[in-house]
Amino acid sequence: MSQYALVIDLDKCVGCHACAVNCKAWNTGGQYGPLTDKAPYGARPEGVWFNRVQTYEVGKFPNTEVVYLPKSCMHCKDAPCVKVCPTSASYKRREDGIVLINYDDCIGCKYCSWACPYGVREFDTYDGVMKKCTLCVDRIYNDNLPADERKPACVLACPTKARIFGDIDDPSTDAFKLIRERMGYKLLPEAATEPSNYYLPKRKYKIQLNMDDILVRKHLKVETEVKVLPFTGTIAEDIASP
Ligand code: SF4
Ligand code: SF4
Ligand code: SF4
Repeated sequence: MSQYALVIDLDKCVGCHACAVNCKAWNTGGQYGPLTDKAPYGARPEGVWFNRVQTYEVGKFPNTEVVYLPKSCMHCKDAPCVKVCPTSASYKRREDGIVLINYDDCIGCKYCSWACPYGVREFDTYDGVMKKCTLCVDRIYNDNLPADERKPACVLACPTKARIFGDIDDPSTDAFKLIRERMGYKLLPEAATEPSNYYLPKRKYKIQLNMDDILVRKHLKVETEVKVLPFTGTIAEDIASP
């Protein structure tokens, strides 16, 4: 039995949102796209987004760094959204571990979105049913696509290759190897849902400040502008791992 999932390298993610936009593009595209947003790319592109990129600033000024955290359904092995669904519309596939929703059986009660600790279920107000990331199940098995394009749309769009798709239980996959080599971790393990998506920790770089420059600027009362010298490249410790 496989468990397909995403492995996201926080050290490579630059927060460009290409993954989120291409996810939206693929899932609103064509007659059979699962999203029904009326103006997905308009002036206020709210609506349903399966993948969102959150931004955090960590550290203390001036030694701060920004962490970008892309987040979508974790395809939990013990998925509470599946357990609470009164109609069994939410289900986890045995063959590949993908958690899906049968829209025909969904009554829009939203129990599943309350049960999900990651806040990644999205209610489609036009269709009146719950939706979420499907790991692009309509791409990864699609024989009409070239073999190297049978991947989730977000993975194909990422310019830094920060997103790796694969079977996290198969030792031959890059996903399996990277989780072990880079000490990949899960979000909110305390929720006990056994999420399948992993994150590779962001590393902390030592930033060397030009102290003369800081002192001069303080004297001139320009205290918020600090010249930062190039990174030394010294990797000290993870800053985004729990
Ligand atoms: S992340 Fe949320 S929606 Fe996805 S399987 Fe887990 S509990 Fe369900
Ligand atoms: S909103 Fe739909 S998928 Fe979610 S619990 Fe209710 S019936 Fe199940
Ligand atoms: S496309 Fe890649 S680099 Fe851009 S936000 Fe998504 S994961 Fe990060």
